[in-house]
Amino acid sequence: MEECIFCKIAAGTIPCRKVYEDERVLAFEDIQPMAPIHIILIPRRHIDTLMDADAEGMADLQAMMVAARAVARLKEVDARGFRLVINCNEEGGQVVFHLHMHLLGGRKLRDGLA
Ligand code: 5GP
Ligand code: ZN
Repeated sequence: MEECIFCKIAAGTIPCRKVYEDERVLAFEDIQPMAPIHIILIPRRHIDTLMDADAEGMADLQAMMVAARAVARLKEVDARGFRLVINCNEEGGQVVFHLHMHLLGGRKLRDGLA
């Protein structure tokens, strides 16, 4: 996946502001934050979209959820509250086609999801 920007971040070819990592998952600051806290969580292994996650991908998704809780604690929004978002395919607003989850927080988020 030489053209994938998040694979390049996972490989260290493109720098990022890393906030968390484990065997399966890397989490880093979004380059264009939409909230005071905006973290991207990715599986190290390339998966195009949520719809492409196989059994191993589901294990990655579980690890991403565990990682999101760790990031929420690190960023001290675990009790205040935060939002997790996965955009899937074009109408879902997915721009980077390496599965990822957004963790948003640090202010009262808008009520509407869409
Ligand atoms: P999507 O719309 O695909 O769910 O979101 C992709 C997210 O990745 C966007 O919020 C965008 O700002 C972020 N992003 C895109 N390229 C980079 C990058 O090179 N570095 C970082 N840290 N974030 C990126
Ligand atoms: Zn990738």
